[in-house]
Amino acid sequence: MRRITLIPGDGIGPEVTQSAREIVTASGADVSWEVAEAGMRAGEKAGTPLPQSVIDMIKSSKLALKGPTQTPFGDPYPVRVGDRVYPSVAIGLRKELGFYAAVRPIKNYPGVASRYKNVDFIIFRENSEDLYLGIERMVDADTAEAIKRITRGASERMARFAFEYLRKLGRKRLTVVHKANVLKLTDGLFLKVAQDVAGDYPDIELDNRVIDALCMELVIKPETYDGLLLQNLYGDIVSDLGAGLVGGLGVAPGANIGLECAMFEAVHGSAPDIAGKNLANPMAMILSAMMLLRYIEETAAATRIERAVETVLREKKYVTRDLGGNAGTREMTKAIVDKLK
Ligand code: NAD
Repeated sequence: MRRITLIPGDGIGPEVTQSAREIVTASGADVSWEVAEAGMRAGEKAGTPLPQSVIDMIKSSKLALKGPTQTPFGDPYPVRVGDRVYPSVAIGLRKELGFYAAVRPIKNYPGVASRYKNVDFIIFRENSEDLYLGIERMVDADTAEAIKRITRGASERMARFAFEYLRKLGRKRLTVVHKANVLKLTDGLFLKVAQDVAGDYPDIELDNRVIDALCMELVIKPETYDGLLLQNLYGDIVSDLGAGLVGGLGVAPGANIGLECAMFEAVHGSAPDIAGKNLANPMAMILSAMMLLRYIEETAAATRIERAVETVLREKKYVTRDLGGNAGTREMTKAIVDKLK
């Protein structure tokens, strides 16, 4: 039995994580739960929004499902862990747990409004280096600069992760995204490493696109892509572009992967405007839990959940207001649980 650390989080977090937990339980997956409090509410109770005990729990279980956490201004933020300071709980967790990869499936689901059909690709974003190392300085009063650092080690780890992930799903094509025509050393290295690694994965075709051309193709024919491998900054931007192709951030699940631990979370925030009102759409959190189950190879349970979600979305009888229905979070959850029986 796998243990999952569940962080309910703030705002709509407790509602949508409860929904995901009920659905995972109904799927028959062999998992157990332990609840860890992090976020603004935890900050009020424990004096810090990210207690060391939460990090230790995830290090021990190696697996977390996280609800959104709110980042208010002022105390008790910024988030302190030991002598390290982070701008938010989400970033603190990612850094403390060494998540080097972000995975974002971009997929059309029935009944979720979108301009496109048949979109189904996965974004693999390298999450440990590039311009987001945060090495910036003022050269003089009128000039600022930032370091973009790309290493062979991090690029290779990321490329292998993407190939392995696609192989497990039986997918056939990975597109490495770059601007190596201009950034010949940094992007050139990222591209070259992916091409070298591709030799170990003859079952998956590797091609490449310059980032600007990719953006154009994504809005013209997104259904032609299978997997995208990107550095940190490009991955950040293309992730939101991708979410926009299939119905927005509200329905997008995501995963953060490290060498030891993995944490799954919806892309949306804590939605304080609708918190506690039974209005939150639980779909992104449910799909995040489904990704977690796939990750631990509870494949049958994951597939059953995805089918149940699709059926409820297609029937449109029990979907939340943002999906054009009248159901609350609890009613939509119950409808999905009923499909799993
Ligand atoms: P948000 O995603 O919380 O809300 C944006 C809009 O989308 C709101 O109108 C909200 O009601 C709606 N919405 C979001 N999720 C929804 C859902 N599941 N069902 C129905 N409607 C939904 O973004 P925001 O308002 O910019 O951020 C609110 C708080 O969340 C901030 O404190 C922010 O820091 C935090 N946040 C946390 C995370 C995280 O923990 N990973 C991510 C993003 C934002």
